[in-house]
Amino acid sequence: MLSYDVCECGAPLRRMERPTPTPKGTEVLLKIKAAGVCHSDIHIWDGYYELGGGKRLQLLERGIKLPLTMGHENVGEVVAVGPDARDVQVGAVRLAHPWIGCGECAVCRRGEENLCLTPRNLGVFANGGYATHMMVPHPRYLFDIGSLSPAEAAPLACSGITTFSALRKIDDAVLKNQPVVVIGAGGLGLMAIALHKKMDGKGVISVDIDPVKREAATKAGAVAAIDGSAADAARQIVDATKGGAWAVIDLVGSSATAKLGLDALIKGGKLIIVGLFGGEVTVPTPFFPMRAMTVQGSYVGSLPEMRDLLALVREKGAPPIPVRTRPLEDANDALNDLKAGKIVGRVVLTPAA
Ligand SMILES: [Zn+2]
Ligand SMILES: [Zn+2]
Repeated sequence: MLSYDVCECGAPLRRMERPTPTPKGTEVLLKIKAAGVCHSDIHIWDGYYELGGGKRLQLLERGIKLPLTMGHENVGEVVAVGPDARDVQVGAVRLAHPWIGCGECAVCRRGEENLCLTPRNLGVFANGGYATHMMVPHPRYLFDIGSLSPAEAAPLACSGITTFSALRKIDDAVLKNQPVVVIGAGGLGLMAIALHKKMDGKGVISVDIDPVKREAATKAGAVAAIDGSAADAARQIVDATKGGAWAVIDLVGSSATAKLGLDALIKGGKLIIVGLFGGEVTVPTPFFPMRAMTVQGSYVGSLPEMRDLLALVREKGAPPIPVRTRPLEDANDALNDLKAGKIVGRVVLTPAA
């Protein structure tokens, strides 16, 4: 098998060749048909998250081991199954849920493997899909993609479930009756707009500093697009929401966007932080009670959410986000383009043409 691996933080991925593994126990081997390139891969590649004030969270100290094959948005064809893998047929094309925990602790048993303290996330802690093949530990992480193409379905594994889980954290009454403010109109932002519409949401007000991305957000159906770098951006959001936002989803997570999100909230509003750009905010503590505000973090999504997301997509169609396919050999270029902010929508690597 072939893979493109991070061997050293920040250095170009290296083309690696090794024997294709044989599945043991409940394992399932996929031949990768589509592997989405996600913004969080850039952080894994760099090896750290910015914590603000010059501090960094080093990922190698958090259990990530090199060399690593990144890629956590994968669709593949089942090519071999372990002796204990049930309900999975060779030849089936499946989306792999990558947010895998130990499978045994109380958190995993209640279905929230994405919050397990001993994660085995594919493409993060275990090898992912920037490769011709990838091993999945159990068939329960595999999902039927119905009539979707592999390239359409792959982004659901991270971009899709991350935004779906964040949108799910908004009260249904708010979602259906109030506009939701979504900061960031990259791949995640466009996915959020598309899924919000499928969930019968009232409308998305998109915020981005890049006019090209704002235009893409408007095309994707945002009811308004606000320049997040404008001096009066918070005021503009308050005006557009007629008094302040009930729900803001911050897909960037920088000091500036988190502050903007907080400033734009109405009394009783909720800020959901998803993005891992890095930074920090200072909030006077009396504001929490006085403004009755909620700040909630949201990290990818759970297995039950993946099931619900795929049910939604089967019923209402794939989110129409722009997807561009590139060969696996382009992995380095795709990452560099994403880092440079040159990509609108999603790039999906296609190893098995
Ligand atoms: Zn991702
Ligand atoms: Zn667990």
